[in-house]
Amino acid sequence: MKTLVLASGNAGKLVELRAMLADLPLTIVPQRELSVDDVPETGTTFVENALIKARHAAKVTGLPALADDSGLIVDALGGAPGLYSARYAGSPTDDAANNVKLLQALDGLPEARRGARFYAVIVLLRHADDPQPLIAEGSWEGRILEAPRGHNGFGYNPVFLDPAHGLTAAEMPSEQKNRISHRALALQTLRDRLALSGLLA
Ligand code: IMP
Repeated sequence: MKTLVLASGNAGKLVELRAMLADLPLTIVPQRELSVDDVPETGTTFVENALIKARHAAKVTGLPALADDSGLIVDALGGAPGLYSARYAGSPTDDAANNVKLLQALDGLPEARRGARFYAVIVLLRHADDPQPLIAEGSWEGRILEAPRGHNGFGYNPVFLDPAHGLTAAEMPSEQKNRISHRALALQTLRDRLALSGLLA
């Protein structure tokens, strides 16, 4: 079975990605287990950062590497926190502080102006110098609530409402989120491309 290194240090995302890839004939190893450190995310777009992470992990391990970069895009904030979602309220990442800062930034805004989406891009490099990475993206439309609801998952889950289901991402069982989220959609596209890419052969 082929081994793939998962170039993410975010524990919440690792849990989701491993669950969503569990049925593939691949052994998926988080980069930390292979002594790969986090690399500075110096890109100015999600796709650049995902490629930086995957390339670094592939270079250090000599294995194919999968990386995702994701964030929350809030219309009323001109797309912020966007690329800087993890450290919106400062470093190190503090999910509760990020949510407080976001709710304050939107304080007093009516429901109609609280539109937002989660966005994820997932890339797969067959090796560090792969000139033709597999790239897939997904987004999940929603709205930022005025107060958090629910406790599942990580990040902005408690303040992100999926209006179609009437639940926040933190109120959904993980199986449900893993079917409809930005990461799930990106991964579904990637899986279709994987099947065509020969990597699973
Ligand atoms: P990065 O992709 O590791 O740079 O971090 C993405 C950040 O976006 C996370 O730390 C979260 O704050 C946020 N984020 C991305 N996806 C999700 C999600 O599914 N739920 C909640 N927050 C998310």
